[in-house]
Amino acid sequence: MRNCKCIVCGRTLKDGIILEGKLICSRCEKRMLIENNYTDIYKLIKNRIKKHIVPYMKYY
Ligand SMILES: [Zn+2]
Repeated sequence: MRNCKCIVCGRTLKDGIILEGKLICSRCEKRMLIENNYTDIYKLIKNRIKKHIVPYMKYY
């Protein structure tokens, strides 16, 4: 299996969700669901995607 990392915490991902083609571990997913201001977390994730995940895009 390819080396998949959570885009939020950077851990190697064993289970989680795919959000717009980006991997997010179940821990961060739960954190997002608990957070009241989901949109802020989502923005943070989007920024992380831009900075870190772009090179991984080629795998999709
Ligand atoms: Zn995570």
